[in-house]
Amino acid sequence: MPIRLGLVGLGKIARDQHLPAIAANSDFTLTATASRNDSGVEGVAHFKTLPELLANSPKLDAVALCMPPQARFELAQRAIAHGLHVFLEKPPGATVSEVELLRAQAASKGVTLFASWHSRYATAVAPAREWLSKREIKRVSIVWREDVRVWHPGQAWIWEPGGFGVFDPGINALSIATHILPQAFFLKHATLEFPENRAAPIAAKLAFTDGLKTPIDMDLDWRQTGPQTWDITVETADGTITLSRGGSVLTLPGAAPQTFKDEEYPNLYRRFAALIETSSSDADVRPLQLVADAFLLGKAERVEAFED
Ligand code: NAP
Repeated sequence: MPIRLGLVGLGKIARDQHLPAIAANSDFTLTATASRNDSGVEGVAHFKTLPELLANSPKLDAVALCMPPQARFELAQRAIAHGLHVFLEKPPGATVSEVELLRAQAASKGVTLFASWHSRYATAVAPAREWLSKREIKRVSIVWREDVRVWHPGQAWIWEPGGFGVFDPGINALSIATHILPQAFFLKHATLEFPENRAAPIAAKLAFTDGLKTPIDMDLDWRQTGPQTWDITVETADGTITLSRGGSVLTLPGAAPQTFKDEEYPNLYRRFAALIETSSSDADVRPLQLVADAFLLGKAERVEAFED
């Protein structure tokens, strides 16, 4: 029998990616939705909030929570207490501690907690990881520069505390880097640029390293117009590889770029089904911890005000 799923927070990502991925996966059936400002999906029970959904919906097995991170913990806790498996959009929470608590609650209730990192499921990421697993890494450069007006039009929450600012996309790069680099790495120093009128950064420069002193530099900027850049370049003793377009294009040393089909959300739902099937959880907080460290150690600078 398919997993009866509730989808909560019908915003951009829920409509762009979750609904098509759920519809295409026979392991799931969309049973209910909850959203205050959206009228829902034709033929699917719809409620304003998760508590209303839990009280009135047809029987559910799982929920996917697609609201901004500041609101995720309370709703995830309710869903776990209700005995539901939980899929958390990224970032899995506004703080590391709350995600750790959810992990403990899910374990004691015997349900699956999936802290999804969609960029890890881009198709070029697995071959890059495999190739790098046997290499000596010399230097890493991460450049994530995009136009916030295109990708987050009018999203006020993203500029609020807990909204992450430019780390909302930056954490995607870190979710890939923590997955493909063979050594754990940590922050050495960072500069975060906050617009005068905003509580979250619009740009950041970060220097990480690992136990072998490998330089790992990261350049995040939300003010890029024109072509967008989502590149990770890794210099190794056997040549340089580049993972570009957010993990969909892989260039190995001496080879032409290979472009892969976008399968991030279909892969995420396959993974969620497999976790439920095997009664296990996957809640890696490393990317979130690195972002938290940037707010701990980074030097804050004020820059020109930003208006949408
Ligand atoms: P969004 O378009 O602003 O949608 C978020 C939805 O969450 C809203 O439609 C809203 O629905 C609901 N919501 C907002 N505040 C809430 C609250 N306090 N309590 C309950 N529900 C609330 O944002 P989004 O772009 O879809 O992003 C949502 C999450 O997905 C973020 O964590 C983001 O990082 C992640 N994500 C986004 C993208 C992207 O390209 N945009 C890509 C991957 C992942 P109602 O007002 O109808 O309740």
